[in-house]
Amino acid sequence: MSKLSRRSFNATLSKGLGGAMLLSAAPLVYGKKTDFKNKKLGVALVGLGSYSTYQLAPALLDTNFCELRGIVTGTPEKEKIWAEKYTIDKKNIYNYDNFDAIKDNDAIDIVYVVLPNAMHTDFCIRAAKAGKHVICEKPMAISVKECDVILDACNKAGVKLGVGYRLQSEPYTQEVKRFVKEKTFGSVNYISANAGYSSTSNPDQWRLNKKLSGGGALMNMGIYAVQSVIYGTGENPINVTAQEFSTRPDYFKDTDETITAQFEFASGAVGNIFTSHNANTNNLHATCTKGWFKLEPANNYGPLSGATSNGDEIKFPHESQQKLQMDDFSKHILQGTPNVAPGEMGKRDLIIIEAIYKSIAEGNKKINLDLGGLGLVKV
Ligand code: NAD
Repeated sequence: MSKLSRRSFNATLSKGLGGAMLLSAAPLVYGKKTDFKNKKLGVALVGLGSYSTYQLAPALLDTNFCELRGIVTGTPEKEKIWAEKYTIDKKNIYNYDNFDAIKDNDAIDIVYVVLPNAMHTDFCIRAAKAGKHVICEKPMAISVKECDVILDACNKAGVKLGVGYRLQSEPYTQEVKRFVKEKTFGSVNYISANAGYSSTSNPDQWRLNKKLSGGGALMNMGIYAVQSVIYGTGENPINVTAQEFSTRPDYFKDTDETITAQFEFASGAVGNIFTSHNANTNNLHATCTKGWFKLEPANNYGPLSGATSNGDEIKFPHESQQKLQMDDFSKHILQGTPNVAPGEMGKRDLIIIEAIYKSIAEGNKKINLDLGGLGLVKV
């Protein structure tokens, strides 16, 4: 444990123990309903593609405060497979057409929208109108305007809204936030964050279709780099300047392949992001007045890894990020703990993404950002 951050390890352990204790704690005072039959909230996954299949559903077998109780799918063959695998009651299975009937189903408390980006808004609105709390995958929507519509629908319905930012719930990101808050290595002067993977084997995927994705690498992976420079400085940026590069225009016909962007922060810190659908990269590096810290990998499903200028390795026991994320959101509903990835944060990131596209469209012009405290959640 000498090279391992002992404090971090203990923090994670106590979080786990705290979780177990909270489970037995009663009564449940926050949330829309207070008469839960079960301790766990019921989640319905909307869209049973790869993220639901390989990450969310398995994670929901381990969650302490919620469980998989329903599915919403446009593919009838998946109904039986999922019902058997996860023991899902027939009455909790919906398709895209009859989904609104979920409003009469008390077994479902949270609707988790895991569809192509351009479909998020419609299903989030329908979920809110059905009186269900909503988790919306990232990016929250394909425009700021749509984010506002989702926020409005959730506010009107009095339901909670969370974005699927799993890193906001995992310990390496918390450690970065602690370094920033406690100025462990002094103030951050410069932060760099890269997020990309090479994806050139399936030209038919929806991520390359702007109508369904809203954009390319920036929408899909760049959003992690945007988040990194924000929690890596503890500030929202005040402006951004961006550039686009296309090395495979034959393949990336409709969406951005590679983007870089530079941010300025009120403290004087500078940030740079790189994102691509044609390069494997995944890290965060902060240069500070008295040292540095880094994570690499910084944004995959883990285990993540990190180091600091003190010679310390940043290391935590691995836990499913999705499990931690869904438990955090459920605790927010059940116990009134902070919403660590609220809709306002999703909207903030879309404001930044739109500004990056605007900068590129206007010949790499510097675009001012007026974000105020939007989406800066203190946890
Ligand atoms: P996917 O392609 O594997 O699955 C998409 C699902 O949507 C499938 O079940 C498909 O049948 C359904 N669908 C309905 N209408 C469709 C249409 N017109 N075109 C294509 N599919 C359609 O995608 P995925 O990787 O599961 O991603 C879904 C969402 O989850 C996206 O918003 C993505 O950004 C997000 N995601 C988040 C993470 C994360 O780490 N937070 C990871 C992966 C994906």
